Amino acid sequence: MPPSTTPRGRARAGLIFGDLWDFDPAPETADPKLKERYDLFIDGRFVRPRSGRYFDSINPANERKLADIALAGTADVDAAYAAAARAFRPWAATPGRERGKYLFRIARLLQDRAREFAVAETMDGGKPIRESRDFDVPMAAAHFFYHAGWADKLEYVAPGRAVAPLGVVGQVIPWNFPLLMLAWKLAPALAMGNCVVLKPAETTSITALKLAEILQDAGLPPGVANFVTGAGETGALVMGHPGAAKVAFTGSTEVGKAIMRQLAGTDRRMTMELGGKAANIVFDDAPIDQAVEGIVDGIFFNQGHVCCAGSRLLVHEPVADRVISKLKDRIRVLRVGDPLDKNTDLGAINSKAQLATIRRLVAAGVREGAVLFQPPCRLPERGFYFPPTLFTNVTQSHRIAREEIFGPVLAILTFRTVDEAIEKANNTPYGLSAGVWTDKGSRILRMSTELKAGVVWANTFNRFDPSSPFGGYKESGFGREGGRQGLLDYSRRA
Ligand code: NAP
Ligand code: MG
Repeated sequence: MPPSTTPRGRARAGLIFGDLWDFDPAPETADPKLKERYDLFIDGRFVRPRSGRYFDSINPANERKLADIALAGTADVDAAYAAAARAFRPWAATPGRERGKYLFRIARLLQDRAREFAVAETMDGGKPIRESRDFDVPMAAAHFFYHAGWADKLEYVAPGRAVAPLGVVGQVIPWNFPLLMLAWKLAPALAMGNCVVLKPAETTSITALKLAEILQDAGLPPGVANFVTGAGETGALVMGHPGAAKVAFTGSTEVGKAIMRQLAGTDRRMTMELGGKAANIVFDDAPIDQAVEGIVDGIFFNQGHVCCAGSRLLVHEPVADRVISKLKDRIRVLRVGDPLDKNTDLGAINSKAQLATIRRLVAAGVREGAVLFQPPCRLPERGFYFPPTLFTNVTQSHRIAREEIFGPVLAILTFRTVDEAIEKANNTPYGLSAGVWTDKGSRILRMSTELKAGVVWANTFNRFDPSSPFGGYKESGFGREGGRQGLLDYSRRA
């Protein structure tokens, strides 16, 4: 083949873009309507923290401060639980169809303000605007719509037995999908008739507090949902509060274990949505170009800050060279940079601390003998960025194959047989998700039965739907979010 007909030849000849051609900037310009200061949302009102203390939320794309966020301490968390406890009886007694109306209203108000929320989410967390606009915000609205639909049909959630709400639920969420994780937690809890005290992540609290404005506009009764902001200590206060009938946590396995230790011996119900190290498995009969797109989406979506990211690629030996070569060509044209630019594929890493974690694990990969590939790319001078990264020559004992990196870093391993693929895929303490790429339906069925993962995607990756339960096996946690199963986790027998 003449060089200009192979992807690499075309790249050399300047026929594909990426680092060879420059794009004009295409910034999203909607006003995120940020306030300078965000107070706590307790009992339907914004209130100053008792301590009078605030911390900064910054934009990781340029390290500029966006707003002051209130730091909640013991008295504030107590006040939030007290408000939720007062609100619980009337809220639980409200007919489901009435509760559903509030949720419908919240969903519609969020749709009305979708662009504003997308820009705020991108500025606060660093994710590409394309993703916050097309995924995070619409998906969050979809969760409110879906659960609004359930609120008046709760007698069908568990056919044959009546269900009732639990009481006040304490919830803590991470920074990778701030608004969406909030929707996953808030919508089912409220639909079932519970009240909530929720803590967003320290680096990404803004969209939760903007949603609090929507809760006010929707006329949600005071105290039904309360948001307290702060760091890990505030999270521990929310999780450990004696007023919680249940706690729901999404975050790292390490913190999840600490919470379980903290609550051991109490009668508190718990759901834990923790880390992952998913295998994305490509067989030789897979549609290769489609699989390459799925691999890229699996690991580079949201800079790889995804609990269910396909961070281990297991590729069948007969096609390994072809897949890896196509993958390298594909990541050469990924655009890393300003998250507010509509052309950006990889935005900013969420925080300086997360960037340091990624760098540390990548250095360990190199030190342990894996082979690093990063396409040439110019990173912005300010802000936290990391190029898309592949590792070949990876063995199962390498840290990059075992530990969750939570960044745009793919570890590539190979296999020869189906049994070997299953063995390697399951050789992890985690079990949140997996992907299978093959033409054979029977193989998909076998893999989805034998892979110890809460979600198995076939010939696709990172697909979500509010009606589809999501959750883990092993150290990825327990309990489900989404679907009937998710609602049941917020209920007890009536
Ligand atoms: P993290 O450090 O565990 O933090 C998660 C949340 O817990 C944050 O709000 C954090 O507050 C808070 N927190 C920290 N220490 C706490 C403590 N001792 N008690 C109570 N709360 C505490 O995790 P992360 O780094 O933010 O998020 C990334 C992790 O979340 C990854 O492991 C990822 O896989 C996991 N995740 C899982 C799912 C899932 O559905 N399974 C979804 C998304 C993310 P600060 O923000 O102030 O630290
Ligand atoms: Mg921030």
